[in-house]
Amino acid sequence: MKVAVIGGGIIGLACAAELMRAGHDVRLFDPAPASGATHAAAGMLSPAGEAWHGDEDLLRLGVESARLWPEYAAWLEATSGHDVDYRRHGTLLVGQDHDDLQVVRRTLDVLAKHGIAFEELSRRELRQCEPTLSARAGGGASLPDDHSVNPRKVAAALLALLDRRIQRCRATPSTASASVDGVLTDDGRTISADAVLVATGYALPDQVPQRRYVRPVRGEILRAHLSSGEGLTRTVRAIVHGEPVYVVPRAGGEVVIGATSEEHGGEPVPTIGGIGRLLDAARTLVPSLDRAEILDVVARNRPGTPDNGPLLGPGGIDGLYLAAGHYRSGILLAPITARILREHIESRGGSCPTSSADPFSPGRFDRRN
Ligand SMILES: Cc1cc2nc3c(=O)[nH]c(=O)nc-3n(C[C@H](O)[C@H](O)[C@H](O)COP(=O)(O)OP(=O)(O)OC[C@H]3O[C@@H](n4cnc5c(N)ncnc54)[C@H](O)[C@@H]3O)c2cc1C
Repeated sequence: MKVAVIGGGIIGLACAAELMRAGHDVRLFDPAPASGATHAAAGMLSPAGEAWHGDEDLLRLGVESARLWPEYAAWLEATSGHDVDYRRHGTLLVGQDHDDLQVVRRTLDVLAKHGIAFEELSRRELRQCEPTLSARAGGGASLPDDHSVNPRKVAAALLALLDRRIQRCRATPSTASASVDGVLTDDGRTISADAVLVATGYALPDQVPQRRYVRPVRGEILRAHLSSGEGLTRTVRAIVHGEPVYVVPRAGGEVVIGATSEEHGGEPVPTIGGIGRLLDAARTLVPSLDRAEILDVVARNRPGTPDNGPLLGPGGIDGLYLAAGHYRSGILLAPITARILREHIESRGGSCPTSSADPFSPGRFDRRN
């Protein structure tokens, strides 16, 4: 099939690569690929750490995608020649004070209900796992199956794979009578396609009926560098006196400290208030961060939806498909999203064998209204 993909963040790139791998004729359109939320993301593959009451369908989808990641990372590295810094060190969930620990326990209740592995840790056990954690960190749990990857490296690998299939321009779906038959580019070209996949993050084009259900949620984050021996060996997600924060170690002494979350209508810019709160919480959790050198500070919009779940599948117009609204989990969900969208497109809008996708049909909000 001839498939046009609009948007080259991690989701559009992963879908385009999957379709190309399956033998389809793919073109991807983006004026600045991998410059949106993908550029900011910490890269936690953390379905257990994100688990929350009421989000059980999302937890199931996340666990399924996390299981695809080891093979996906190996395939990406082998075919692109790029390292993606996939790390299997697990994650610590930490509560700093008594109230913070209650929040951690609520996540553990969800994990216990769904049979997801974790091990509760006392203050002493936490410090045995990660000696650089503050002696005042109250307690928490180890999440052995929550890993991480470097999203900028994943995007670079996918960009290398897709190479000349990428066109650096904006595009919108072009409609003929009641169906989508290709894309219109902002340099005035019309390109026909059997299927058009929209993966434009938080900004869906006007032609997409579900546009109003995806909104920008600003996230601020920073990267820093620590000398060897002073850093963490695994991701730490914590609540520090009510403030959520995470510290994700990467290759070469790099750490990522994130992230704020704010509903807003303006440009996603880093603010003194947001970054200040993150730094206060991170330094309380890991005092050695005081000596870290700041590398960059970034803010981007996450694509939020009313139920925090993505929109995956046919977009309500013949020939149109959506992979959008991945909110806090687009890196985690990239491999399963690519598979689900390939299945939908190959069945030409029919059913998709991956049943964990059923709760995430793009039409679900219209049906509820
Ligand atoms: C601070 C922060 C930390 C995060 N940490 C994590 C994490 O640890 N783990 C995790 O799983 N997720 C994380 N996320 C969420 C994750 O980054 C997003 O869910 C994911 O990047 C969404 O990918 P996307 O491809 O849909 O959107 P984006 O990455 O935003 O890409 C959208 C692309 O569409 C392009 N585009 C827009 N309109 C058009 C058009 N008309 N024509 C052509 N191209 C267009 C843009 O140029 C852009 O490249 C984080 C997000 C933020 C902001």
